[in-house]
Amino acid sequence: PGTQLPYDPEKKTIVILGSGWGATSLLKTLDTSEYNVVMISPKNYFLFTPLLPSVAVGTLSPKAILQPTRYLARHKARAVTVIEAEAKEIDPFNKTVTFEDDTEIKGEVSHTTISYDYLVHAVGAEVQTFGIPGVQEKACFMKELSDAEIMQRRFKDCIESAAFPGQDNTEIDRLLHIVIVGGGPTGIEVSGEIHDFLEDDLKAWYPELAGRIRISLVEALPSVLPMFSKQLIEYTESTFKESKIEILTKTMVKEVKDRSVVLQMPDKSIQEVPCGMVVWAGGNKGRKITQDLMAQYPNVQTNRRGLTVDDQLRLAGADGSIFAIGDCTSTSYAPTAQVASQQGAYLARVFAQMAKKNTLQARLNQLEQSEAAVTDTAEKANRKPEIETTRKLIANVKVRPFHYSHQGSLAYIGSDKAIADLPFANGNIASAGVATFLFWRSAYLSTLFSLRNRTLVANDWIITKIFGRDLSRD
Ligand code: FAD
Ligand code: NAD
Repeated sequence: PGTQLPYDPEKKTIVILGSGWGATSLLKTLDTSEYNVVMISPKNYFLFTPLLPSVAVGTLSPKAILQPTRYLARHKARAVTVIEAEAKEIDPFNKTVTFEDDTEIKGEVSHTTISYDYLVHAVGAEVQTFGIPGVQEKACFMKELSDAEIMQRRFKDCIESAAFPGQDNTEIDRLLHIVIVGGGPTGIEVSGEIHDFLEDDLKAWYPELAGRIRISLVEALPSVLPMFSKQLIEYTESTFKESKIEILTKTMVKEVKDRSVVLQMPDKSIQEVPCGMVVWAGGNKGRKITQDLMAQYPNVQTNRRGLTVDDQLRLAGADGSIFAIGDCTSTSYAPTAQVASQQGAYLARVFAQMAKKNTLQARLNQLEQSEAAVTDTAEKANRKPEIETTRKLIANVKVRPFHYSHQGSLAYIGSDKAIADLPFANGNIASAGVATFLFWRSAYLSTLFSLRNRTLVANDWIITKIFGRDLSRD
């Protein structure tokens, strides 16, 4: 496996943009024997996002939730070309992609263009800041691995600065006030993880400071976690209350400053609240490459939430050669890993069907040509049945529309508790608490793409349980 040359001029070329949930699931399921496959992403790994908040407080090490794309690619039937680069431009009319090595070290060539027969646009989304002043420059995000590492460093810095001799009481309280913006699952999970770090480790190591750490969660809407059922929202709110995490709903962040956050309170008054750091989890927005692609189809691609696709995930307005999956699309589904990975696996089946159809079509062309060359009528008649059968086989190769199967929503809320909305035959079952937390852990452990990652994650959980989280700041 993986020893043949990646490029075969006889085969069609699929270019996949991204190495996240959608792209990785596609690559995992795709039969590469029928195609030249090129995967382009600025990250040469897959990031298991559900456990990113655990990395942000050091429960897990970064390596545990990363899987190098080449690990997956090398096990495919034909070699897959993996390129660490950022796609900069898609020309859907000439069917080319231009990409660039944006890293620190570049070779003589760091910018090039290749052709595709099929393009899979799976570049995800970036953090939505709504252009609110200070967010981009001063807040930490929770989207990429580097965000989790930055958050960890800043959080530990806040504590060490608060411990600095002679620090004034008001300044200690400011440094130890952590503001999390966004009551979606990301904001909730980050709050829960910070709380665990505080309870399990910081209380022992910084006994004089730990009790003064404040966590505030700010949400513009009337409630947190709108995608979960009412009883789970209430459960989360009461768990946060016990954990002394303050939830401020109907409160909107208007500005992030160096030492404070400006809030518009429910009564529309403006308050400037001192804080040591702000974690921004305000949702998603389309990347530039996605917006540029939309701009190529101004009459069709008008949904500001992302790319419009048909029920076979083909880009609306394009000629059928571009597919889009995951967070870069705007569909009736939530932008989740579950959706992106099911779409990736579905596309792999679509490509398998298309390959089957191409093979049959080539056979049909051959049969028709040789039949045309025959002059003897009896011989012509002899060949007809096979031609008819092949035509029927081609007509039977159908591509079914994408169908999403919701496996439930799960979120960790801290204090060894999780919440779950699980679909059953007669509706949803809502479950919460410590048993749900164990379910959450086992569900994510089994969802991790490789045994290597499962081992690393399980190992880190055990190490954290025995020795606690690391306090050193690099
Ligand atoms: P991504 O996984 O974001 O992948 C996009 C890929 O494209 C990345 O590899 C990126 O490097 C690459 N890329 C970016 N720009 C370019 C470019 N110009 N050219 C080429 N490649 C590019 N969902 C759940 O269902 N369950 C959860 O528990 C869950 N937890 C989450 C926790 C956190 C902290 C976060 C942030 C998200 C969570 N999600 C969860 C949502 C989930 O991560 C996303 O819905 C999912 O990642 C979407 O998959 P995707 O393939 O569309 O995008
Ligand atoms: P989100 O869009 O779900 O939530 C963002 C929240 O931020 C919104 O509720 C919004 O009202 C709030 N907000 C935005 N601007 C604000 C402001 N100025 N002031 C106050 N509040 C503001 O974003 P997310 O939590 O990052 O989730 C993104 C996607 O990833 C969702 O589809 C989510 O389901 C998925 N996800 C799932 C899980 C899970 O299943 N456990 C975990 C993380 C993310």
